[in-house]
Amino acid sequence: MNYISTRNKSLNFDFSSIFLRGLAPDGGLFLPDEIKKFSEIELIELSKLNYIDLGVEIISKFCVPVLKKDKIKSLLHKAYSNFSLENVVEMKKIDNINLLELYHGPTLAFKDIAMQVIGLMYEALDLNKKKINIIVATSGDTGSAAIAALKEKKNINLFVLHPHEKISNIQRKIMTTCDFSNIYNIAIKGNFDDCQKIVKQMFNDEQFREKINMSGVNSINWARIICQIVYYFYAYFQISSKVNFSVPTGNFGDVYAGYIAKKMGLPIDKLIVATNENDILCRVINSGEYRPTEVKPSLSPSMDIQVASNFERLLFDVLKGDDQKVSKSMKNLNDNGFFKLDKDELKKIRENFSAERISNADTLRIIKDFFMNYGFILDPHTATAVGASYKVKNKSKTIVLGTAHPYKFLETIKLAIGKNVDPPRQFLDLSKKIEKFEIIDNKLEDVKRYIMGKI
Ligand SMILES: *Cc1c(COP(=O)(O)O)cnc(C)c1O
Repeated sequence: MNYISTRNKSLNFDFSSIFLRGLAPDGGLFLPDEIKKFSEIELIELSKLNYIDLGVEIISKFCVPVLKKDKIKSLLHKAYSNFSLENVVEMKKIDNINLLELYHGPTLAFKDIAMQVIGLMYEALDLNKKKINIIVATSGDTGSAAIAALKEKKNINLFVLHPHEKISNIQRKIMTTCDFSNIYNIAIKGNFDDCQKIVKQMFNDEQFREKINMSGVNSINWARIICQIVYYFYAYFQISSKVNFSVPTGNFGDVYAGYIAKKMGLPIDKLIVATNENDILCRVINSGEYRPTEVKPSLSPSMDIQVASNFERLLFDVLKGDDQKVSKSMKNLNDNGFFKLDKDELKKIRENFSAERISNADTLRIIKDFFMNYGFILDPHTATAVGASYKVKNKSKTIVLGTAHPYKFLETIKLAIGKNVDPPRQFLDLSKKIEKFEIIDNKLEDVKRYIMGKI
């Protein structure tokens, strides 16, 4: 399989290079040059598989011949051996809600599902002969998932940039109490978009990138997307009639994986994009104008994002694969602060997506009502998706993606229901551990200097 850039279709990369690079050299995102659809008969066969075997069938579509099926199988077995569920995820039926719990990995958020696989791919692809420096921006959960996946890798250094004082205490503690010499936590005096921008600028600086042998594991890395496609299939097979998925959304990676699942033939009706008060995706899907504004801290910090990077991949499709048009839109965004979709383009998006914005007040109310009615504690991100699912009026059943364990957002849960959440076993002594992180100004050069000093 060959990969192209959203901004240049004539580029030609294999899986190994797009995995290592993360971002295309022209600043675009990588996409496979074609996506094959499963036939109805193939779907029936897939529905009989356990999670890992299903994963092998789906993931291998995107990485053979670079990674062969048996290699992927051993990789997935190893990756998911430290999850608390044999089938990685679990569907719960709570009243008329189908909740897909994706947070049973080592750091209690869905990010583990892709990150545990990615951590092993560096070895499997034989990429870490030379020391690799991975730089990642996190809105709270990617960082800890990356640390858990990479902390024991000898030839990898990991630098995690999180927005200073803009993630939950538990999110920060899980990241900064990990005492491994190849892990560096940096708190940037800015928001997630600032962190993401610094990482992108480093990627686009060819000289710096080469010098430090840089790689990235943010959700713009295609490997993350393909690992996330798997649970859409798995969840659908538990319902086996046309479904909607309601997805708590920030950087548009997770819900975009659902879109690829649909392109691969999964009978999905609507993908419901649930946002918090940082509602850029809600605005673009409802009005056609993509215009980032200032990030507002909310109760669902992992979704406090205005520049939803993966949207560029959808844009490429909506613009019928016209790389020049994508480049022009992204240039408009850069120069003028926005771009606009026309009526037909917007229609194409709305055939697949709808979007809802859930306020902080609504998030608290949903957590409270859900607890009162069902005795089940939702984390604030999942709560936005539950809220969005209530607003959808079509006949398809809806599956809500549960993206994080409520323990990660203790303070918010306390605010909503007046109760504490018990820590899962692996975090019983978290409060006693010592935190280690460096606070750095929101300046590219300062971050670069820090990194150069450590490697
Ligand atoms: C990262 C994250 C999201 C948003 O996912 P995207 O792929 O960035 O859209 C939602 N919920 C939680 C808990 C997260 O960690």
